[in-house]
Amino acid sequence: MRLRDRLRRLEQVAEGETMHARCQECGEERRIGDVFLDVVALDWQMHQEGTDELPLGTPEDIRWVWEHPCDVLALVDKTTGEHVFGEGWASGARLVRENQRGA
Ligand SMILES: [Zn+2]
Repeated sequence: MRLRDRLRRLEQVAEGETMHARCQECGEERRIGDVFLDVVALDWQMHQEGTDELPLGTPEDIRWVWEHPCDVLALVDKTTGEHVFGEGWASGARLVRENQRGA
C-alpha cells in the first residue's frame, strides 16, 4: 500500500471518532463525538436525580445534541445519512412514535 493510501486510511479511522452532525429541520451542523452512550447515561442519571438540568461539565457536543430545539430524529450524520444515535435507535424511536400515534 502506498504511503498516500495509508495516510488516507488513518484519516478515516480518526474520522470515526467524530461525525459531522446535521439537523434536517433547521440545517444547523456541528462536529460531535460518538455521544450515544453518554446521552443514555446522562438521561438515566438525571432521571435518578429528578432534574432537567445537565450536570456542570457536560461536554459541549453532548449539550448541543441534548438541548437542540428540533426533533431529535432530525439529527443525522451528514456523511452517512444515518441517525447520530445509529439507525437501530432511530428505527426503534420511530416505532414507539407510530404506536403512540395509533393508540
Ligand atoms: Zn435543528
